[in-house]
Amino acid sequence: METGRIIKAYAGYYYVLSFERDVVYETRLRGRFRQEDIDFYVGDRVEFSIIDEDEQTGVIEELLPRSTKLDRPAVANIDQVVLVFASQQPELNYELLDRFLLLVEAYGFEILICINKVDLVGLNEAQEALADYEDIGYRVVYTSAETEHGLNRLTEELQGRLSVLAGPSGVGKSSLLNRLSPEAEMDVGKVSQKIKQGRHTTRHVELITLDNGGLVVDTPGFTSLRIDFIAERELAYFFREMREYTGQCKFNDCLHSSEPECRVKQALEEGEIPQSRYDSYLSFLSEIKGEDNQW
Ligand code: GDP
Ligand code: ZN
Repeated sequence: METGRIIKAYAGYYYVLSFERDVVYETRLRGRFRQEDIDFYVGDRVEFSIIDEDEQTGVIEELLPRSTKLDRPAVANIDQVVLVFASQQPELNYELLDRFLLLVEAYGFEILICINKVDLVGLNEAQEALADYEDIGYRVVYTSAETEHGLNRLTEELQGRLSVLAGPSGVGKSSLLNRLSPEAEMDVGKVSQKIKQGRHTTRHVELITLDNGGLVVDTPGFTSLRIDFIAERELAYFFREMREYTGQCKFNDCLHSSEPECRVKQALEEGEIPQSRYDSYLSFLSEIKGEDNQW
């Protein structure tokens, strides 16, 4: 039995990249999966048997355990979310960055921040703009899809993992993807001719294969920016720099806004929590409470 990962699903066919060799097999599901009503997602790891080695066809026999699942786009086993923002054009919107960070924290994915278009402001200014976030402990890479600055570092961060890009439009997500895998537009990596079939009809999510074994979802994730599924009580927990203080306030139901003897606000005054992060927190809190819903 072979093992591999579904990198594309189309019209009842599942394209499985073998873990043992650099080959994509065109597979179908064993009939019993239809009766059992099991869904297979792009990103799923499967066991399959080969029907014809020359034709690269096979049958999926088993679904292997799934670690995570994202719904839009539907992708299983994502290892990390790469939050792409631009240092200029569009100007870096911190509250929007905090909103994406909150969403990804709430989903529990690992996070990499990618600041693109550093050619427009210079590396120093781009790094200063993210200093608070690096202090909080977020990993940040600085790139330019234009000059290729930082693309090696970004590629390293993608190595051997399944990543999805997210971020506002216009920041350079598609430009970065095209740089990382120039063939992606015509072909999924270098792996297969078969996969081209059906490409020009309906768009389906697929995984782009990088030379270093990294896989990147070809469609951005986290397109809905609604945060109202998050409870008031857990909001501060998703702000990493607030987390450690949340249990130390005078009132144990403290929401860290206007309550007295709040340990979070003390940390804010002592400069342990950046003011702009706290402002985002308050803004999200009133949104979750239903006082201000703009999304
Ligand atoms: P997306 O909406 O996030 O996919 O953004 P695009 O990849 O479509 O890029 C939006 C615009 O920004 C395009 O005109 C790109 O040419 C431009 N762009 C992308 N990356 C860079 C960069 O690193 N530097 C500069 N100066 N422009 C960039
Ligand atoms: Zn408090």
